[in-house]
Amino acid sequence: DTVIVLFNRDLRTHDHPALAAACENARQVVPLFVLDPALPAGHRSAFLSECLADLRRSLRERGGELVIRRGDPVAETVRLARRISAQAVYASSDVSTLARRRQRRLAEACEQSRMEFRGFPGVTIVAPDALRPSGGGDHYRVFTPYWRAWSAHPRRETLKAPDMVHVPDGLEGGLLPDSDHEPSVLFRGGETVARERMRQWLKHCVEDYADGHDDLAGNRTSRLSPYLHFGCLSPLELESTAVNGDAFVRQLCWRDFFHQVTAAFPRINRDDYRSRGQEWRTDSGAAQAWKEGMTGVPIVDAGMRQLLTENWMHNRARMIVASFLVRRLRLDWRVGADHFFEMLLDGDIANNYGNWQWMAGTGNNTRPNQTVNHIRQAKRFDPDGEYVRRYVPELCSVPKRAIHEPWLLPAGVPGYPQPLVSMD
Ligand code: FAD
Repeated sequence: DTVIVLFNRDLRTHDHPALAAACENARQVVPLFVLDPALPAGHRSAFLSECLADLRRSLRERGGELVIRRGDPVAETVRLARRISAQAVYASSDVSTLARRRQRRLAEACEQSRMEFRGFPGVTIVAPDALRPSGGGDHYRVFTPYWRAWSAHPRRETLKAPDMVHVPDGLEGGLLPDSDHEPSVLFRGGETVARERMRQWLKHCVEDYADGHDDLAGNRTSRLSPYLHFGCLSPLELESTAVNGDAFVRQLCWRDFFHQVTAAFPRINRDDYRSRGQEWRTDSGAAQAWKEGMTGVPIVDAGMRQLLTENWMHNRARMIVASFLVRRLRLDWRVGADHFFEMLLDGDIANNYGNWQWMAGTGNNTRPNQTVNHIRQAKRFDPDGEYVRRYVPELCSVPKRAIHEPWLLPAGVPGYPQPLVSMD
């Protein structure tokens, strides 16, 4: 018998429950990826192409193939299933509205065609619906009790990559997708690169994470987020091999936390999770200056230019620029969140919109009014101004004492704007 494994945000062979089950249950397995033209991947498209090329290479090494099709994922899966007389379709379950709608449609289409459909874990460490607060409700709204329950929850066994994947004869693989975007120099896509980065990170760096993760200029976080987003790495495997990495594992828990919030609150990317009656200003000039890294506030501009040049940003910088947008410019958090989502290689419905709501005070944090003092944070997390100088070259020769407040220099800095808003 034959099973189709429909890949999506799980582009790996290791610890892939759907692929492992298919290889165990069926004589023939057809790994499939359907590129949906209705969903342009933007800046993520080159990374996605590299992930698919790498996945195809690994599957071929195991005697298999990655079949790539274009179109509506449900229609294409069912069409292929009929053609090869598959008995079942397996896929990893995901939480976004789109992913859930697709899974529902796929399950219905399989039923109509008398095929089995099975959803599998693998996108998060703990399944989004596995934990329920003792006080009632379908999800955790507050992180600390979630973290406690999450830490105590039993884990499934991690799975090896299958030794062999037997595909039916005469199956056309199809072309890998092209991308209009240049591939990232800093992040090459694919499981092979991801696993090497994971090994290096766990061997040399993870122990320094608790002390170093807020150092803006240092390269002291894992930078694994694009790989986790595309599922080139299993978050469970990462967690289970992160010895002496409690602070790091806590961040992986934040990822699961926002996934379970998204599962329960599917309009997280549009509606305020909790309405606080804020009135947002409309100011397209200010929004544009923020996006271009031209606000006149060095730490904000450095973060925004890191995003423009690397399609990635340090977590502390993400917090600073987000808080600047909502608290100082008083612009709608969705303006910032949509820009992040478009630009980031790790752009993720759950993590991006969950964190933005958290920063805007519309989310599920219990201290929604906390404000970030941008200048104090800049001086603390970029004490020598190294991060600012790296991304804002106009400020290269500004002395250290004024690097975060160049407006204090009597003559200002030629070519660099005055702050958009008063920084008193
Ligand atoms: P590390 O510090 O090494 O952490 C390891 C992993 O834990 C990350 O790769 C990520 O998967 C997870 N993680 C870490 N912090 C968080 C967090 N606060 N929330 C959820 N998961 C976390 N992360 C995304 O993956 N996609 C996004 O679109 C995204 N948007 C964000 C927007 C804002 C406004 C903020 C404040 C944070 C956002 N984050 C997002 C979370 C975090 O900034 C990134 O995950 C992190 O910077 C990625 O770098 P890293 O892999 O070196 O992280």
